[in-house]
Amino acid sequence: MEQLRRYLIPHFVFIALIFIFLLTPLPLLSKAEQNPQATTGQSPLTVAESSNFTSTSRYTDVMNFIEELQKQSPLIRVETLCISAEGRAVPLLVIGKPVPSSPLELSRDRRAVLYIEANIHAGEVEGKEASLMLARDIILKEKPTYLDKLVILVAPIFNADGNEKISPTNRRGQVGPENGVGVRYNGQNLDLNRDSMKLESPELQGLLRNVLMRWDPILLVDCHTTDGSYHEHPVTYSWPLNPNGDSSIIIYMRDKMLPAINKNLEEKYKTLSVPYGNFVDSREPEKGWETFEHYPRYVSNYIGLRNRLSILDENYSYADFKTRVYGCYNFLLTILDYCYSHKDEIEQLLYTAEQKTILRGLNPSPEDSFSVEFEVKPLKDKITVRGYEMEVTPREGTWPLVKRTDKKKAYTIPYIADFIPKRGVPFPFAYLIPLPDPEVTEKLLQHGIRVERLTKPVTLEVQSFRLKEITAEPRLFQGHRMNSVKGEYFTEQKEFKEGTLFVPTAQPLSNLAAYLLEPESDDGLLVWNFFDRYLVPQWSREPQTYPVRKLLKPVNLVKESVR
Ligand SMILES: [Zn+2]
Repeated sequence: MEQLRRYLIPHFVFIALIFIFLLTPLPLLSKAEQNPQATTGQSPLTVAESSNFTSTSRYTDVMNFIEELQKQSPLIRVETLCISAEGRAVPLLVIGKPVPSSPLELSRDRRAVLYIEANIHAGEVEGKEASLMLARDIILKEKPTYLDKLVILVAPIFNADGNEKISPTNRRGQVGPENGVGVRYNGQNLDLNRDSMKLESPELQGLLRNVLMRWDPILLVDCHTTDGSYHEHPVTYSWPLNPNGDSSIIIYMRDKMLPAINKNLEEKYKTLSVPYGNFVDSREPEKGWETFEHYPRYVSNYIGLRNRLSILDENYSYADFKTRVYGCYNFLLTILDYCYSHKDEIEQLLYTAEQKTILRGLNPSPEDSFSVEFEVKPLKDKITVRGYEMEVTPREGTWPLVKRTDKKKAYTIPYIADFIPKRGVPFPFAYLIPLPDPEVTEKLLQHGIRVERLTKPVTLEVQSFRLKEITAEPRLFQGHRMNSVKGEYFTEQKEFKEGTLFVPTAQPLSNLAAYLLEPESDDGLLVWNFFDRYLVPQWSREPQTYPVRKLLKPVNLVKESVR
C-alpha cells in the first residue's frame, strides 16, 4: 500500500493528464468520421467514397489525396501538367515500379506508358474519382502486377478551374452527385475537348509538352459523361474516328481491342458497355446507332492522327453516380488488363504505323491522298444496344412527344461510325510556308511537328491553292469565326526565299501536319483563323493565294531545323 502511495503521488500529475486527454473530444475525430481511414494509416478514400457518392472532390481534396498516396508508397511521383489560367498546378501522377524520375529512364527498360485523363469537362466527374481510386488501388496492392510492364500516368483533374465552380445547378439532368459538379469550360471559357488543333489553352499545351511529347504514351484514355439516348450501359466508348489517321490503328481498336475490352468488362467486372452513340431517331431506335463527329479537335480523334491509341470513355449520365464511378473504374481496369497482356502487340502495331507514315513521306505516290471530305456509313457488323421500348404520342402542329417506357428492349441495329474519305487531295513531299509568322511556327512546334527552314533561296514547282471564296461563320465558336474556303489548285514555279519554313512529310506526325496545313482541311490552321491576315491583299476584297504551298515530289534542299 505504502509502495503504491509512493508510486502514485509523484505520478499523479501524469495520470491526471492521461485522464484529461482521454475525456477531451479530439478535433481529429470529426475528420476521421468524414474520412474514416485517413487517420489510421490505411489507404485514403476519395470524396465520392467517403460521402457515399453524394459529393465529388474539389481541387484541394485531390491534392490531399495524392499527398497521402505519396506518403504511403514510393511507387508514385507527381509532375505538373500545366498551370491553369486561374493559377492552379494541374497534377500529373506518374506511377511505376520503380517510378521513373524522367522518361529517359525508360530507355533502359521495356515498360510502356499509358495515360489516363479525367475531368476535361469538369461537370463529368466520375473519371476523376475512378482514376484516383485506381491509382490508390494499384500502388497500395501487395503485388501491383500492371507495373511489371506499364508506367501509368494519371491526370485526375485536367480541368481544375472548371472543377472549382462546383454547383448543384450544373448539369441538372445528370443523376448525382447531389452536391454538385463543376462546369464544362476551363478558366478561359474554352471547351478543352475542342482545343486539340488550335492549342490555345494551358491544359492542351501542357498535354502536348508534358505528356505526349515528354512521355509518348502508347494509349490515351479521355473520361467523360454522356447524356442523350436512354439505354442500360453505364460505359460507352469510342476509338479514333478520323480516316486521315493510320487505318491499321482504327481497325485494330475497332475490331480487336475494344470488342475484347467490352467482353472482359462484362464477364470479369460485370459491367455493361457499348460503343458510344445515340439513336438516329429515338422514335424508331431500329434505324440505327450513330457516333459523334470525326474532327481532330476532339482529343481522342487527335491522338489517332499522331499514330497512337486513344479511347474516349463516355459514362452514362442517367446511371447513378456510384454506378458511373464503378463503371468507369472497371473500364479503366479492363483497359489495363488488355494493355498488360497485349503490350508487345500494340507496340509493334504503332511502330509499323509510324514507319509506314515516314516512308510514305519520302516519296508520296499519286495514290497517297489526304481526305478533305468525309461521309459516315454503317459498319459491317450490327451492334446490340440494350435500350427501352419507346412511347410516341403525336402532337398537333409540333413534333411528337417521345418517352421511354420501363420495358427493356435490346436493339440489334446498324452502327453508323465508319468515316470514309469522300474527296482527297494529293499528299505532298513537304509543305512550304514563305511567311515569317511566329504564331504559325510556334503552333507547329507546340504539336511536336518537325519544322525546317531554307538556308538558301530556291525556285520550285509547287502546287498552290487560289482562294475564290472565304466564308467566316457568323456565330463565334471557341472565340473564333471559323473559316471555310473554296478555290482551285494550280501548279506554279515559285521562288522561295531563305528562311521559308519547310515541313517534310517524312516524319511521324505528317498526318497531323497535313491536317493543320492543307488549305481545304476541315480542322486546320486556316479554319481556326491563324492565316486570316494573309488571305486578302491590302486594299482589295479579292482573296489571294493561300500562303502554304505543296511540294509534291522529292527535292534535295539546303535546310536547318527550327526549334
Ligand atoms: Zn465531355
